[in-house]
Amino acid sequence: MARLLAKKLGWAVLDTDDLIARQAGKAVSDIFATEGEAAFRELEHHVLEEACMGQNAVIATGGGVVADAANRSLMRQSGLVICLEAQLETIHQRLRDSERRNPSRHVRPLLTGEDPLQAIERLKASRQAFYAEADWTVHTDALSLQQVAEEALRGWSLVGQKRFAPDARSIAGPVRAGSGDVTADSSGLPGQEDAPAYEVKTGAQSYPGYVGWGILNTLGQRMRQVGLSKTAYIIADGAVYVFHGAKIQASLKEAGFTTDSYVVDPGEHSKSMASTAEMYTWLAERKAERGHCIVSLGGGMVSDLAGFAAATYLRGMPLVHVPTSLLAMVDASIGGKAAINLKAGKNLVGAFYQPRLVMADAETLITLPARELTAGWAEVVKHALIQDADLFAFMLENREKLVGLAPQLTVEVIKRSAAIKAHIVSEDERETTGQRMLLNYGHTIGHALEAATGYQGLLHGEAVAIGMAAAAHIAQKIGLLEAGAVDQQRMALEAFGLPSVAPVVAVDKIRQAMELDKKVSGKVIQWVLLEGIGHCTIKRDVPSHVVDEALRKVLPRWIEGDNPQTR
Ligand code: NAD
Repeated sequence: MARLLAKKLGWAVLDTDDLIARQAGKAVSDIFATEGEAAFRELEHHVLEEACMGQNAVIATGGGVVADAANRSLMRQSGLVICLEAQLETIHQRLRDSERRNPSRHVRPLLTGEDPLQAIERLKASRQAFYAEADWTVHTDALSLQQVAEEALRGWSLVGQKRFAPDARSIAGPVRAGSGDVTADSSGLPGQEDAPAYEVKTGAQSYPGYVGWGILNTLGQRMRQVGLSKTAYIIADGAVYVFHGAKIQASLKEAGFTTDSYVVDPGEHSKSMASTAEMYTWLAERKAERGHCIVSLGGGMVSDLAGFAAATYLRGMPLVHVPTSLLAMVDASIGGKAAINLKAGKNLVGAFYQPRLVMADAETLITLPARELTAGWAEVVKHALIQDADLFAFMLENREKLVGLAPQLTVEVIKRSAAIKAHIVSEDERETTGQRMLLNYGHTIGHALEAATGYQGLLHGEAVAIGMAAAAHIAQKIGLLEAGAVDQQRMALEAFGLPSVAPVVAVDKIRQAMELDKKVSGKVIQWVLLEGIGHCTIKRDVPSHVVDEALRKVLPRWIEGDNPQTR
């Protein structure tokens, strides 16, 4: 049936069982017999990932593929999922027919050894809930193969085309990448392009950033291309390492690196002097040299921590970032700011230290907790709002698919967003010209909210989203921004699941935090405000009653004083 459907569509056809057999060099039934079901499922996931990276293909899978949540998510994001339903007796009859036609190929390992009808019933019952998640179901009992293919095609026309056709379009307008504009590169398959998505060009050095889907296996090669070799020390967030550590180790080994891994506890508390000191000891025990390199694997916490260790150990070791949170892909891994926290405050000790390479594999976002993913969208929306009206429009148009991490769209949007940060930091590496300050849109109130809530309760992206809502109100109030643009920003925040109002926080605490920021930045608050979608400016003279009004907008419960718990 897959072949018939592919012929009708003029597409390629892939069968995951065939791909597994080809990769393993033995039949599926032999893999089950010699290595067990778990090994088979691992191979199955791997070939499914590869198959889903392509475009315009009908992919036939085994019936058990849906039992794995990661497979279901991958299939949902990559294409239209069609379930071919049938009654137990029909399935039984078809299996008997197919085994009679080709006994070696069609042995079903999970259906041997007991009454086949019972076995089919048991398996089907255990998977039925997953089959129900399909986008389109064809009841095949009374249909010929030709009719089944036609029904599947109808599903594609009615549901699939609408969902996936816009993938072919890319974001309008030029991409900002490093210094100078380049044209958006959306040709070819995500993850298989050779050109970097962006280049950071600072006075002293420049480095490429790659963004793709399923590109972790190219890390070793890319590192060699930028002149790295010998030993790589992977500094990884523990929660990320379990999912993606093996993949990058394999890629590094394949490219001839010796690897060693240091795993830190997930969470902001690990970005500390104590962790850094432990890491220095660990590097010293391994006799790390300047010619070796450090690879960070994880979100912004780990890229800041590993970046700081790389900047300081032996007065600087080569650094590579492999960001795995959306925030780190478009923000923390780009621009060379590295820091750790002290009790006295966040990011107080640090350095400007540029990596040699950044590699963002958007596929790793599948394992990122949902709330973290949502918070990451705040930075992407922010980049679009301050610099790129085309990206903003594209994001609004494709919001549902982006939220669902549709691979090609997600890669394209991350590329574009990361290129904005790369462009800005290339112009202003050390925050001297004011360009980099534009990235602080939403941060004045966002930071104050984070500080007022003791960095608990609100994720950074959530606080920035609320800060952007307040900033838009200020911009409207002082006549910079039209109501329509404020509405568009609100729609975008909502579409990506971001908050526009804060939890209960005492206003005095927010004011105090803003005062502290003011002291640090030279006694005047510099507000980054929108003049329109894609355009921003800096204002220093916002009247305090306008700020108060904006705070009222984002604080549904206005509590004076500094302890909301006691009120
Ligand atoms: P994070 O690194 O703490 O990651 C958030 C959570 O997601 C963690 O629990 C982590 O274990 C988990 N995680 C990350 N990727 C995952 C994946 N693919 N699969 C499963 N779990 C995953 O936080 P963050 O939001 O990425 O970054 C925030 C940090 O970045 C802060 O320390 C902030 O100061 C820093 N930051 C730095 C810069 C900079 O320019 N250097 C810019 C912005 C933020």
